[in-house]
Amino acid sequence: MFNNLSDKLDKAFHVLKGHGKITEVNVAETLKEVRRALLDADVNFKIAKNFTKTVKEKALGQDVLTTLNPGQLMVKIVKDELTALMGGETVGINLSGTPTVILMSGLQGSGKTTFSGKLANYLKTKKAKNVLLVGCDVYRPAAINQLKVVGEQVGVEVYAEEGNQNPVEISQNAIKHAKNTGKNVVIIDTAGRLAVDDAMMTEISNIHKAVSPQETLFVVDSMTGQDAVNTAKAFNDILNFEGVVLTKLDGDTRGGAALSIKSVVNKPIKFIGTGEKMEAIDVFHPNRMADRILGMGDVVSLVERAQEQYDEEEARKIQKKIAKNQFGFDDFLKQIQQIKKMGNMKDLMGMIPGAGKMMKDVDIDDDAFKGIEAIIHSMTPEERSEPKVINASRKKRIAKGSGTTIQEVNQLLKQFTQMSKMMKMMQGGGGRQMMQMMKG
Ligand code: GDP
Repeated sequence: MFNNLSDKLDKAFHVLKGHGKITEVNVAETLKEVRRALLDADVNFKIAKNFTKTVKEKALGQDVLTTLNPGQLMVKIVKDELTALMGGETVGINLSGTPTVILMSGLQGSGKTTFSGKLANYLKTKKAKNVLLVGCDVYRPAAINQLKVVGEQVGVEVYAEEGNQNPVEISQNAIKHAKNTGKNVVIIDTAGRLAVDDAMMTEISNIHKAVSPQETLFVVDSMTGQDAVNTAKAFNDILNFEGVVLTKLDGDTRGGAALSIKSVVNKPIKFIGTGEKMEAIDVFHPNRMADRILGMGDVVSLVERAQEQYDEEEARKIQKKIAKNQFGFDDFLKQIQQIKKMGNMKDLMGMIPGAGKMMKDVDIDDDAFKGIEAIIHSMTPEERSEPKVINASRKKRIAKGSGTTIQEVNQLLKQFTQMSKMMKMMQGGGGRQMMQMMKG
């Protein structure tokens, strides 16, 4: 995410970090680089200019020239300003309606349907809501089908009316249906066009008037940079929407949309989409995003993701197994699956401070565990629960079955043994000892 921008900002600060004595010239030079980095990220010219102006004022106000660590202070000021630029505070979603009606708007291909599914899934699993998805694209039957597929994936009912060409009527009927079936959130997916046009605007405006949504969300593909900002403006003029959803932030996005949109429409970014899977949705936190842009990682989000996947009962079962020396490869496989649910590997690495920069050229994909999984899948149930029985001939068979080598099988077995030992140690007195050691 925003690798290029992060790199350039890092280089900009390099000037300040390297010099023993800081002069006004250095500061000016750094700010020029910062501005260039923002422009390259496709941030609007005026916004970039204002940004560096504010940073300069703050830097001079805080006597950046005389502090012990000017580089760090500048990074802090830039971080605060980036946070402010992206809206400052985290703004949640309003779920106060009975039912709450959420209207999705945006161009075709922006990711509306995918996001509708993600949001339904998020509200269902994180907020215990009973959700209804509504398909209002009366022009493209394929769009309704796509929504149905998404609904099925997340286990949420999809309301559609085949043959009805009136999206206003469909959405009104959908809300009635929601009330009759005890749903408390209705997400209306609307038809988008490839570009802003009057017919689309009139249609969504009519739906908006008819259903009075608590939340109208504008969905935008973050890869589209400044265009995204212009589209946002056009939609906001008509709908006065509540919030923005930035999709496709997992791609090679330059960052312009994320950094410019708030200033232009004065509406918060509420959610981001970071992948095609239904779990790839995050609440947008401006400060955490600023940290990520500056290569400081996002440990808070990483821990949150881990906690989301943490299943207390499962953890207790595993603890018992470890204590009884029964932790086997099936349990190991389950652990891997949990890690995979946390998100794509590259995205996770980006949340570890410093790791994003280090790993940016390394190609880590979601198949990082593929070899390990294949090896485990080639083991018999007995071998999985009693790895001790795996002798030379079994190793040969497992390697052949999984399309790996005996060395790879050996390596996994070795790692597994080490891990089991360590877990055992953590469980017993060793864990406490280790904690004591860490506390110093
Ligand atoms: P709609 O026309 O606005 O409903 O857009 P879709 O939901 O059909 O999305 C268009 C394409 O973008 C699809 O291929 C989606 O899988 C893809 N997409 C949507 N959101 C994301 C995202 O956050 N990341 C990535 N990589 N792809 C996405």
